[in-house]
Amino acid sequence: MVLSVMNIVFLGPPGSGKGTTASLLEPKLGIPHISTGELLRDNISRKTALGMEAEKYISKGDLVPDEMILDIIKERLKEDDCKKGFMLDGVPRTVPQAEALENMIDIDIVIDIEVPDDIVIKRNSARESCTECGKIYNKRTMRPEKEGVCDVCGGRLEGRADDRPDVIKERLSVYREKTAPLIEYYENKGILKRIECNDIDEPPEIAVEKVIDIIEDE
Ligand code: AMP
Repeated sequence: MVLSVMNIVFLGPPGSGKGTTASLLEPKLGIPHISTGELLRDNISRKTALGMEAEKYISKGDLVPDEMILDIIKERLKEDDCKKGFMLDGVPRTVPQAEALENMIDIDIVIDIEVPDDIVIKRNSARESCTECGKIYNKRTMRPEKEGVCDVCGGRLEGRADDRPDVIKERLSVYREKTAPLIEYYENKGILKRIECNDIDEPPEIAVEKVIDIIEDE
């Protein structure tokens, strides 16, 4: 049975496919995909004060301070499209963020996408996204029809600045230290579900099907 209101959190290392899976699920579930990384990159490209501050952390692969994230997410969750639920991608990323989020919303399901480190590094290096609309592509598994051009809006595709191998390694170690403890945190609350991806070229639709199966079993 599908829950009437679904608040879903995606956990998983950078490049595990959280964003791609959530964006493919968006039209199927009718709830928005909210990525804090995307909200921050939008602020960076608009050169807002928040964006300029966040860039200092993002460019090094560090997490931006919890308060900054909580302010952004609080505002985003007030928007009308969140009334029937939402999919959070990239938040919470620390235990204090998870605790603060609990005071704002109820979370129904946490999906942990488990991917080995070697695949994460290769996947991130192949990732590119549209500089206009943010749609994510992958040179291995999700190529645009015309190289370098977004299928949706015709915008230019570009690799992310924080997907350089040295920054990816730092992001991975930050993930293991600060975000992976959330797996146990949500397991203890009885809402954690795991899906695995051990094949670098696995089409993203497979993860989407696995998530739909989990939701239908609820
Ligand atoms: P992402 O697109 O989720 O990989 O996020 C890109 C970068 O934005 C991360 O490496 C962090 O520097 C920052 N970021 C995104 N979400 C958060 C969060 N919830 N807490 C702290 N930093 C974040």
